[in-house]
Amino acid sequence: MAQSANNNGAKSPLNDKHLWVKILLGLVLGIGVGLALSPEAGALLPPDLTNEVGAWIELPGVLFLGLLKMVVVPLVICSIIVGIADSGELGFVKAIGSRIILYFVLTSTVAIIIGMSLTYAIQPGAGMPTEFVDQAMAQQAEKMPSQTLEGLSIPQRIANVIPTNPAKAQLEKNMLQIVIAALLVGLALLTLPKAAAKPVLALCQSGQAVAMKIIEWAMVIAPYAVFGLMAKVVIDLGFDAVTTVALYMATVLGGLLIMFFVYLGLAKFVGGVPVWTFLKGIREAQIIAFSSSSSAATIPVSMKCAEENLGIPKRIAGFTIPLGATINMDGTALYQAVAAIFLTQVFGVDLSFSEMALLLVTTVGASIGTPGIPGIGIVVLATILSGIGVPAEGIALILGVDRILDMCRTTINITGDITATVVMNKLV
Ligand code: ASP
Repeated sequence: MAQSANNNGAKSPLNDKHLWVKILLGLVLGIGVGLALSPEAGALLPPDLTNEVGAWIELPGVLFLGLLKMVVVPLVICSIIVGIADSGELGFVKAIGSRIILYFVLTSTVAIIIGMSLTYAIQPGAGMPTEFVDQAMAQQAEKMPSQTLEGLSIPQRIANVIPTNPAKAQLEKNMLQIVIAALLVGLALLTLPKAAAKPVLALCQSGQAVAMKIIEWAMVIAPYAVFGLMAKVVIDLGFDAVTTVALYMATVLGGLLIMFFVYLGLAKFVGGVPVWTFLKGIREAQIIAFSSSSSAATIPVSMKCAEENLGIPKRIAGFTIPLGATINMDGTALYQAVAAIFLTQVFGVDLSFSEMALLLVTTVGASIGTPGIPGIGIVVLATILSGIGVPAEGIALILGVDRILDMCRTTINITGDITATVVMNKLV
């Protein structure tokens, strides 16, 4: 076994008891400075200077995310390979693999049902004046996401899961393909004679340790990074959009909060981790996810939190967290369910029971293929909407507030991944 990434005795930034306080302070100060500089709120500076100052303030955040993204692909590959090959038995992989997939599908379904029920109960889209809808759509139309999902058929999508060109998968950061390739290599190593598997395993153990060391260094600038990212997000936010769809936002946030309590319950009653220990253990990962809006970029920090703060063995966290960040997005699924039903209410589309079931199945499926990057949930939403007869242009209505909701759903996405890890630690 390679030496642990964390030299005993050496002070790790994540062992710094005050790191989370500093990161939280960065978050609060970032919001404050962002508000002061925002053209719509404080406007302390002329607009062109605001952009320039904003880019400088954001710089530590960009550097920090750059470091995380730099190590995320090798870290995911090495962790999955080590997690499987080091487990020593095929039975363990089968047990964890089958349970976690079932668990992911179940929690996504729960998230979607919470989202749908809440939206039907609150009715945020009912009674919106048509002139307002037209006006909002006209204002936001030019900002519509240009990115769309390539129109692949379902068999093509399934075939696409195999990285026929692994180098291309890494170049394009196609996490699902990378995870599949790493799973296969890990399984192959597990079935090879020990002597044949040893060199590749040792290389991956060392690669994992190197990646974790770089993350440890990156964490030193995490408070400044969070400050910069938050300030920039707030500077760029449009506040008028918030007031017009406030009830819709409240529905999404309410749903995410309920999901958060579901996780706390699962972690405590199934995973056996007390609520406070769980919250304390995951807070750095949550703040990084909130300020970066990317569960993929947060993978290294989530893994560190799970292993070092919650004491989950590497062979479990190294497998479940990258897999979860890639295919388990309960926050995104819940948000998509709320957004879809909200738009049916705005456009007066009545969904039959079978259409609701279709929405549920499509959203669970979509959350598996959605990459953990900023703003992608709304792009995938367009595909979901076309399946239930809602005009995709309706997205313009909720585009203005998407960044705020993205930050919150990403936080829930990674909380779900760490909860899954805690639960699997007990169940496998
Ligand atoms: N930003 C989300 C994530 O990385 C995905 C999304 O909902 O847009 O988890």
